[in-house]
Amino acid sequence: MIKFLDLQKINAQHAGELKQVAGEVIDSGWFLLGERVKTFEQQFCNYIGTKHTIACANGLDALRLILKAYKELGCMQEGDEIIVPANTYIATILSITDNRLKPVLIEPDIRTFNLDISLIEQAITSKTKAILVVHLYGRTCWSEELENIAKKYQLKVIEDNAQAVGAYFFYADGTKKRTGNLGEAAGNSFYPGKNLGALGDSGAVTTNDDQLATVVRALANYGSQEKYVNQYQGLNSRMDEIQAAFLSVKLKYLDAENEIRRKIAEYYLENGKNEQIVFPIPAEHRESHVQHVFVVQTKNRDQLQSFLTAHDIQTLIHYPIPPHKQQCYKEWNSLSFPVTEKIHREVVSLPISPVMSEEEIQKVTQVLCAYRS
Ligand SMILES: *Cc1c(COP(=O)(O)O)cnc(C)c1O
Repeated sequence: MIKFLDLQKINAQHAGELKQVAGEVIDSGWFLLGERVKTFEQQFCNYIGTKHTIACANGLDALRLILKAYKELGCMQEGDEIIVPANTYIATILSITDNRLKPVLIEPDIRTFNLDISLIEQAITSKTKAILVVHLYGRTCWSEELENIAKKYQLKVIEDNAQAVGAYFFYADGTKKRTGNLGEAAGNSFYPGKNLGALGDSGAVTTNDDQLATVVRALANYGSQEKYVNQYQGLNSRMDEIQAAFLSVKLKYLDAENEIRRKIAEYYLENGKNEQIVFPIPAEHRESHVQHVFVVQTKNRDQLQSFLTAHDIQTLIHYPIPPHKQQCYKEWNSLSFPVTEKIHREVVSLPISPVMSEEEIQKVTQVLCAYRS
């Protein structure tokens, strides 16, 4: 069986170091708000390029905390609108509705699966306060046009960087910046299956905004900056010391692991030839994609998935039901987003990970080529 993502094997590569630091945390007797979280935050700042990293409990909380902080700062209030892709994982949308803000869903570009930036301007109203972009599947969703729209209408741009830690955006002048450092603030996820995965839940907010960073940090710790003094009605959303210690180990290998993912994606693109399967178009710059998931499209998706399963290849669907069709958002169930719905009907994600063997990569490719609907 070729696993979609072999987490056991991924972490086994670093088992010695991971067990070492786990032992150190156990022996230290210090489990929260300690030196290991501080160290990881500094390392992540150096990696992403932002002035601040605020570690928190998970990626959803990172996004929730950003929006909650903007409300505390008076930049947004209940009922304000946030522009967001219709084609995303539910967590992006939950972070908005949890704050009683209103998601304004925008269709993706079918070629990149990412928010179609050319549709943003027509969706802006007097209530629009921010654009929440998602670097879906690990592909950077950014452009200088997006920056200009945000400037023109004085909107915050927030990044959902859960799937794209390590990716870059390249400016026309040749300079580059990491995702997570492109907008005003970003939510990052270290869910075990993400490219930088902890051994449990954790996440982080990255930002260059001093004021926002201070409020997010307080909100993540009961709304308190000083013990037993509560300025805000906050949450308990902190990263464990043991997860920070694991992440400091794994961050060192992230670039190399993302590069292996890119090589696998390139192999699939070069060698996977099948007229019934639509392969993703390569990113303009290879480093603006970290290949979190490799998604192909086909009319008869369930049949392709069964064919792959019959050949011992495990696949997943990212994602089977779009947010606007979910029961939890009944009020949007009748809305129509044809591009988003087509994607949800037709995509299947192939195995991709830093621990796939050459034989496994070849086999997946051969089976793809052999498929006939
Ligand atoms: C994983 C993910 C999240 C949420 O991260 P968690 O750490 O699982 O809470 C948010 N948005 C996207 C696009 C994700 O893939």
